[in-house]
Amino acid sequence: MKKMKAMVYYGPGRLELEDWEIPHPKQGEVRVKISYCAVCGSDLGAYKNASDRFRPPIVLGHEFSGVVDEIGEGVDSLHIGQHVCGNPPIYCGTCWYCTHGHYNICPNRLSLGNSVGVDKCNGTFREYIVLPAYTLVPLPDSMDLLSGSLMEPLAVGYHAAKNGAFQPGETVTVIGTGPIGLMTVLSLKAQGAGHIICSDLSEARLRLAGRLGADTLVNIGEQDLVEAVKKATNGLGSDRTIICTDAPSSFYQAIHATRSCGDVILVGMIQSKIEFCPMDIFGRDINIISSYTFTDEIYEAVNMVAAGKIDLEPMITSIYSLEHGKDAFDALMVPGNPEVKVIIDMWGEQKGEEKWVR
Ligand SMILES: [Zn+2]
Ligand SMILES: [Zn+2]
Repeated sequence: MKKMKAMVYYGPGRLELEDWEIPHPKQGEVRVKISYCAVCGSDLGAYKNASDRFRPPIVLGHEFSGVVDEIGEGVDSLHIGQHVCGNPPIYCGTCWYCTHGHYNICPNRLSLGNSVGVDKCNGTFREYIVLPAYTLVPLPDSMDLLSGSLMEPLAVGYHAAKNGAFQPGETVTVIGTGPIGLMTVLSLKAQGAGHIICSDLSEARLRLAGRLGADTLVNIGEQDLVEAVKKATNGLGSDRTIICTDAPSSFYQAIHATRSCGDVILVGMIQSKIEFCPMDIFGRDINIISSYTFTDEIYEAVNMVAAGKIDLEPMITSIYSLEHGKDAFDALMVPGNPEVKVIIDMWGEQKGEEKWVR
């Protein structure tokens, strides 16, 4: 039986390379030879702290691209050699959520690379995976597979950017310029936002946000965000504010940086309780909108990249071979590290290199 390499998570700080059998697709399934898999903030979260969302042993990873290399019976939507990325939930298709277009929160789902849903589901830090064909999103041959591995986080930002009643020309504040904040900036720019204000504590991240299209950069170590937004909008506040950080204070800032009747979009995973006065929301008719992952927005995100409206290259800071996958996680653990998206190249060791930076 032929073997493949898989990087298995055994708890915080523990990733081990193992030899696993190469799986074969059954009815309705497809095998993908994985090319690249990016490290998500959630993968890094599991590497930092134990969580019910990641019950070991499990293969992490869900931001991947690859090439279809075996097809099960009954699949006619994909062909061998087809480049693909993935839409992580493996959903039931019959529950209320699935039949109303919200399959991202199907209660019967499995979710690639974590244990959210009915059971844990091994992810994509490995050389091959078998998945239901409907979870795979075709990529045009013209798109490089490195960019293809970032379609999932781009779709998160893309969904957040257009959520609610977004109109081109709007002034939008993005709180937090981590990978999802930056994906949101790229998406806002591509969707025609008029003025993008970004805030963060990291000068380097803010500079990158500026390169990607942000117009006003606010270092909240030096400036008050609400004041800076008011100043940039003649005292009005932004039309919408998108929270892309887990800092609890951002919720309060977002409400006050947004004009009355504006939208506050929550995409950052704030995990602690926050105190606020409901009148600050009700009394100004603010809409609070959650933006949990995405559904078919991933197809729109692929089209945007294919059409050259979004360039993901500046997001990619390092690429590691699977052999050195643990080093990638360790590099991301260093406080103040300069990384944005770090990608594991499944077949990189064949190039005889352990890490390379574009
Ligand atoms: Zn992700
Ligand atoms: Zn369902």
